Amino acid sequence: MLVDTYGRVATDLRVSLTDRCNLRCTYCMPEEGMQWLAKPDLLTDDEIVRLIRIAVTDLGVTDVRFTGGEPLLRPGLVGIVERCAALLPRPKLSLTTNGIGLGRTAAALRAAGLDRVNVSLDTLRPDVFHTLTRRNRHQDVLDGLDAARAAGLAPVKVNSVLMRGVNDDEAPELLRWALAEGYELRFIEQMPLDAQHGWQRTDMVTAEEILGALRTRFTLTAEGEPARGHAPAERWLVDGGPARVGVIASVTRPFCRACDRTRLTADGQVRNCLFAREESDLRGALRSGAPDHEVAARWKAAMWGKKAGSGLDDPAFLQPDRPMSAIGG
Ligand code: SAM
Ligand code: SF4
Repeated sequence: MLVDTYGRVATDLRVSLTDRCNLRCTYCMPEEGMQWLAKPDLLTDDEIVRLIRIAVTDLGVTDVRFTGGEPLLRPGLVGIVERCAALLPRPKLSLTTNGIGLGRTAAALRAAGLDRVNVSLDTLRPDVFHTLTRRNRHQDVLDGLDAARAAGLAPVKVNSVLMRGVNDDEAPELLRWALAEGYELRFIEQMPLDAQHGWQRTDMVTAEEILGALRTRFTLTAEGEPARGHAPAERWLVDGGPARVGVIASVTRPFCRACDRTRLTADGQVRNCLFAREESDLRGALRSGAPDHEVAARWKAAMWGKKAGSGLDDPAFLQPDRPMSAIGG
């Protein structure tokens, strides 16, 4: 198993399939994009499936989430999902996406074995969408959400980041919309993982603020500590339930003590934390002919050294060199 010195066990694997993206969310990437990873540096589909197989069959991983960058830009995605769904024990398979192109692929992904999807959408206003993502693709995301629901990728979750002065007035309206559409909404506090290093704690819209805004229109009842479990989202019943809203307060209410995650970048590096500054190279091991047990041993060693927390509250905190889009959010 993937255990660390604090006794945490990582069972939830996040796999970044590409660092590329068709949006330029201001909290994530600069307008001009990034220096993308070179194709030969990316894991091939076979290498990705092999590493996921090792994680699932030898290392106790039970949940696999595909992310990026924008994972729908990976040409082999449906095939990767299909091969992972055939693994024994079968892992739960989910996808985090900006939703663009999901209109065309949701049914095929479901048929391949994808269980769930999280779609990122921060606003209901097309002009604000353009301000936030620098692209006019709002309707594509809404279409993607419709298709995910129609394909049975339930529950469809929606991730929203609120930015001060841009969409921070939209929390109640986003929740009203999500309830009407049957999506489960989760707000994510903005984290210092943007490529531009522009994050400022004083600018960030906090969980407290978000909850305060929601309470002007809804009654929220905490589901309590046990319900949170390993999930980073604290969840509230809305107007008595059964509908819920979540808040992922990575900055103001970190969940590091219960963290069960391990991460694989698109170029085959294991990261034991989003905020880690070290990585362990599995691609090199694969390409030098290492057998499964040796790859597994490297992965275990990488997790053993996981720090107690993200270090965000440490005055000496240094943002990781790689941004969220390259690590896999
Ligand atoms: N492109 C896909 C998407 O947007 O869903 C997957 C990758 S994206 C990096 C994963 C999630 O991270 C998205 O929900 C996005 O809103 C969130 N995200 C990106 N940068 C962030 C930041 N600086 N702080 C908090 N969340 C962030
Ligand atoms: Fe792309 Fe997702 Fe980053 Fe937005 S948050 S730029 S959609 S990777």
